[in-house]
Formats: sequence, structure tokens, C-alpha cells
Amino acid sequence: MNLHSSVVIHVDIDYFYAQVEEVLNPNLKDKPFGVQQGLNMVTCNYIARSFGIKKWRPVKECLEKCPDLVLVKGEDLSEYKKFSKRIAELLHEEFGSTERMGLDEHYMDITKLAEDKLALLTDEELTNIRFAGPFYPNEEAFSKCSCGCENRLMVGSQIAQNIRDKILNELKLTCSVGIAHNKLLAKLVGQMNKPNNQTVLAPIAAAEFMAELKEVRNIFGVGGKTAERIEELGIKSISDLQNCTFEKLRNYFTQETAVRLKEAALGIDNSVVRPSGKPKTVGLEHSCPPITIRSDVEKMFQDLLPQLVEHIENDARIPEGLKVTIRQYNREKKASFKETKQCVLLPSYFKHFDEKIKLSDHAHDLIMKSVMSTFDKIIGKEKFYINLVGLCFNKFRELKRGTSSIESFLKKRKSEGETSDDNDQSPPSKRQKIVNRNSIPANVDQSVWRDLPIELQQELMRSWQSSSTNDNSSDMIKSSTFASESSQGLKLKSNGNLKNVNTLYNHFNKK
Ligand SMILES: [Mg+2]
Ligand SMILES: [Zn+2]
Repeated sequence: MNLHSSVVIHVDIDYFYAQVEEVLNPNLKDKPFGVQQGLNMVTCNYIARSFGIKKWRPVKECLEKCPDLVLVKGEDLSEYKKFSKRIAELLHEEFGSTERMGLDEHYMDITKLAEDKLALLTDEELTNIRFAGPFYPNEEAFSKCSCGCENRLMVGSQIAQNIRDKILNELKLTCSVGIAHNKLLAKLVGQMNKPNNQTVLAPIAAAEFMAELKEVRNIFGVGGKTAERIEELGIKSISDLQNCTFEKLRNYFTQETAVRLKEAALGIDNSVVRPSGKPKTVGLEHSCPPITIRSDVEKMFQDLLPQLVEHIENDARIPEGLKVTIRQYNREKKASFKETKQCVLLPSYFKHFDEKIKLSDHAHDLIMKSVMSTFDKIIGKEKFYINLVGLCFNKFRELKRGTSSIESFLKKRKSEGETSDDNDQSPPSKRQKIVNRNSIPANVDQSVWRDLPIELQQELMRSWQSSSTNDNSSDMIKSSTFASESSQGLKLKSNGNLKNVNTLYNHFNKK
């Protein structure tokens, strides 16, 4: 029987706020240092901890223990949130979905990842694989179960090592990781070798491991009140809890709590990892020596775009928006400032190929066109000294395979209401004025419509007109603005075959 079929890991960034401060200011790294919020020190580095300082203690008490303690104000969470987002994005892009707990903890169910890796190994490789990092209680304990958990957890420990390396290389942060067959144990075992390490637990040693934690309060989720009441029962330790009869617990607690306590004491946890929302944005930025020539800027964006697309290739979603960012040096103010503007992407720019999201043919050029015209809007006619460019996909939407995604793209997004991106406060573009909003079908999202390229608006309009004359569709208001558009000199290729959005979609794809 497959007793321990899952591989769950718990990733916990070490002394998170304080470590972020260290990354931002490496001078802090070799000093005892903590982050202060109000009158408390909320977290500190391990040098400070060696003085006996604990998290969430009054600053006064900490300074008594360590007079040289350096404190940094941490009320403003924005940098911590930025790092938190980058950690989530990195994990998601490289290793799959995570259940996010607070700013710096993630559960991940890596069962499939581990199984896939195992399946690729030859028999010889399989006999030679080893655990990465320390284990509990010892290596032999893993071989005592024949359900296959040994190999899964072994590969799991290697994935955990990869994750730690990635986070360290890309974000300069260390973390502690637990690897086990359930969430409860993964979280608890990850604390064994903190900081900057990982621990994998042998499933058959789960109860023994729990008993070693001793205090009932160590069971994650058992709050002070419950712990007190357990102690009233004469249960002082986790092993007492293991040995106590279920009936005794049931007399004091609800059925649910009694079951949970008993199971937790034995290291049993059937809860599943529930992936948190996927990242709302995926972006990349490149800094550079000052650039003053437009074609050089274009070259930078040219390089950035395919890299960014690679970052979403394993996503089941496609972005509908792209933020273009530049950082400019302002000579008067002697400082650099970032500016960002949003442009729109069409679903037809993306395709599924070989189970991955790729750009459709010509989409690179079309996107680059939008990027550069957005760039021109930011810069205006001024001279520029650009030292950073960035692209960021946003407004993600699930990609429905096998259907014309442009159709769903244009459907009114009722559930999302009329919300639009905060940064999307640009004045209505010219094309909005050209096409009369009243002439488009009622189920078309106006905000999406007005951002479409004029050619696409016109082709769509034409297709709706022809379909409305064919089906007498009632929500189609015949457009009188259409003729006037042509008279504004916007040459339209009349294409009577465009009967619906689907054909238009194909048409655009072939263009
Ligand atoms: Mg942490
Ligand atoms: Zn097993």
C-alpha cells in the first residue's frame, strides 16, 4: 500500500524582515542586528540571537542583552512585500504552485515533480541517488518502508536543495526547508536545522519525531488556550498526548478537535496543499549604462521580451497586459526615476506549442511595436538617459485550449466588474474617439475594446455587421460611424468573408 504517497515541502525564509534589510544593506550582515516595529524587536539575525535575543521581545530587553544591537525600523513593509512577491514568483516559475503562508512561508506539494524526476532515472542512477541535506532520524529509517517513499523523499530532498540554491542565487536569501510526506511534518521538521539548511523526515519515524518535540504547544495550530486545557488534563507532553485515550480527549474537546489533536500528536495530517493565487505579474528588468539612442533601447526590449515569455511558458494563463518600464536619469534632480506605462496584448499573440506557451508568428514584432510606441509616449520628445528597461506581463487570464481565445477575451468580464489596473489611468486613446462605443455588441467589454488596435476594431466591426445582417442578432446596433472611419483615411481591406470573431482570429493569426 502506498502509505506515504505525497512529498510535501515547507519553505521558510530565515529571519525574513532582517534578512531583507541585510540584502538591502550588506553592512548589517556582520553585526547583531534586528528589525524594530513600535516598541518591539520583531526579528533579528543569528548574530543577535547568539546573545540570547528572541523574536517579538521589547527593544529595551533586547538592548540589555546586547548593547551593540543595531536596530532598523521596519514599519514600512513595502520592501518586504516586494521580496515576498519575488520569492513567490520564483517558486512558481521554477517549481510549480505554492500555498503561501504570510510573507515568507510556502508549502509545496512536489509529489508529481519528484515522481517525474524518478521516472527519468536509469536503474543505475536510481541505486546511486543520495539524500541532500540532513535527515531525521537516520538514513536507515527510510529503507524500512517499502511503499516507495524512500526514493520519492530522496528526490524531494534534492528538489529542496535546488529551491534553496535558486532563492540564494537569485534573491540572496537563505531559507530553511522541511521535506516530509505531509504538511504538518514538513513544517516541523524544517525547523530542526535552521538557519540555511533542510531536513527530510523518514515517515516511519513520524510519531517518534513528534514525541521529541515534547511540548504540546509545538504542534502547529495548537494555540495557548487549547494547550492550557490539555495541560489541565494532566497531559504535559506530546508523548502523553499520544498515549492518552481518545475518549478522555473527547470528554474535554469537540470530536473535531479531539481527532485533530490525536492525529497531530502521531504526525498524521491529511490536509492538502492548497495553491494560493498565482502571481499577478511576471516581470523582468535589465539595468544598463546610460542609453541615449532609441534603437539601443529597442534592442534592450528585443532581448528582454523572449526571456520574459520563457518565464510564463509553463503557466496555464496568458497575459493581456504588458507594463513597459524605464528608469531615466534626471540631470536637474541628479537622480534616476522609474516610469511605467501599460499596453495591451491580444490573446492571439500567444499559442500553445508542445505543452508550452509561446509567442505566435509575428507576435514578437507586433508586441515590440506596442512596446516602442508606449516607450515614445513615456519619453515624449525629450532627450533621454535611460539606465534601466523593464517589461512585465500582467492581467493574466486562463487560456482555454481549442477555443478561440479572442472570443472569451472580448466577453464582458462580469465577475471582475469594472476594475482596472491601478496604473492604467492613462487618458482614453484617440482610437476610442474614432469608434462609437454604441456600435459594438453589448457583450463586449468596453475597456478591452477601446484598447484594441484600430484595424482590429474595424475588422471586428465589419464581421459583426455582416453577421448581424445574416442572423438578425438583436444586440447588434448598426454602426453609422463605420463609414466615417474610412473617410478619415484609415484604409480598410473589405473582407466580406469575415463572418465571426473566430474567422477574424484566424485571419489575424495568419497575417
Ligand atoms: Mg521565516
Ligand atoms: Zn512509505
